[in-house]
Amino acid sequence: DRLVAPAASGGEDSQDRAIRPKLLQDYVGQPQVREQMEIFINAARQRNEALDHTLIFGPPGLGKTTLANILATEMNVQLKTTSGPVLEKAGDIAALLTNLEPGDVLFIDEIHRLSPMVEEVLYPAMEDYQLDIMIGEGPAARSIKLDLPPFTLVGATTRAGLLTSPLRDRFGIVQRLEFYNIPDLTHIVTRSANILGVAIESEGAAEVAKRSRGTPRIANRLLRRVRDYAEVKGEGIITQPMADQALTMLAIDHVGFDQQDRRLLLTMVEKFGGGPVGIDSLAAAISEERGTIEDVLEPYLMQQGYILRTPRGRVVTDAVYHHLGLPKPA
Ligand code: ADP
Repeated sequence: DRLVAPAASGGEDSQDRAIRPKLLQDYVGQPQVREQMEIFINAARQRNEALDHTLIFGPPGLGKTTLANILATEMNVQLKTTSGPVLEKAGDIAALLTNLEPGDVLFIDEIHRLSPMVEEVLYPAMEDYQLDIMIGEGPAARSIKLDLPPFTLVGATTRAGLLTSPLRDRFGIVQRLEFYNIPDLTHIVTRSANILGVAIESEGAAEVAKRSRGTPRIANRLLRRVRDYAEVKGEGIITQPMADQALTMLAIDHVGFDQQDRRLLLTMVEKFGGGPVGIDSLAAAISEERGTIEDVLEPYLMQQGYILRTPRGRVVTDAVYHHLGLPKPA
């Protein structure tokens, strides 16, 4: 399992739950998202209405689920959680929708993976709070219409481009999460360490932050591994040298790349002359799924300026040669 994998692995434990921010004021970074959501939440509350349907997109681990939970808490309503691949039939989504209380938040993770049948049910539900489905089959089939309570659909996806446009158009609020900067990640690491009762120096927190690929989930995971190291090899205090040694042992380099990142970059340089290389050729060369490269590996490498996307494929920048310590081809 990839230590810096931004996707949640094996659900969350009690420690994860304890450090997940519950209120908008504890949601670190993403100033634009926070400012806008605060206004939309207050306005909806003043009018005594459900919050408008909200689409949140961004790479894994940046806080989409956390934000969905916060929206429900701030609106003082319940959150019901499901995900795109789980909803197979129209009846699955109908069951969820008919169980909502007025104002509730229905959170659908991986909303780009909904089946067309489920999407069809969602359109009138989102637009007019109407449930309109067929029950039964053949000559006995009939359509039933039901009024639903006003509710908020919160959808999360790694890339907005994966959504069908009729679905995307039905979201009144669209929020894009950005990778976190180092001060924000340092804040997150410090906050988590306080909650977990881990002694950490500010330089130690900054070192973990720098090596977390701009991603809070990775920052929290690395914090826990560095804590282990500091407890076994030192006095349990996370200093900068302690964090550096622990992360070096875990093969996470000083910019936060792990073996998989380096393998991707090295393959682009050695097998494809630095590119341009098509995503499918690259996926085959490193035996990785195309989706993993697109959703997990390359967004951060692109944001940091290591990879560029051109019409003819991906290319590496000079920063890659510099980082890998390789001579740049003439
Ligand atoms: P996603 O749904 O985008 O994959 P999550 O919402 O599950 O990501 O976030 C992963 C973890 O990162 C959460 O458990 C939470 O502790 C932490 N986290 C995410 N965003 C923030 C934030 N803005 N401030 C503090 N911690 C955060």
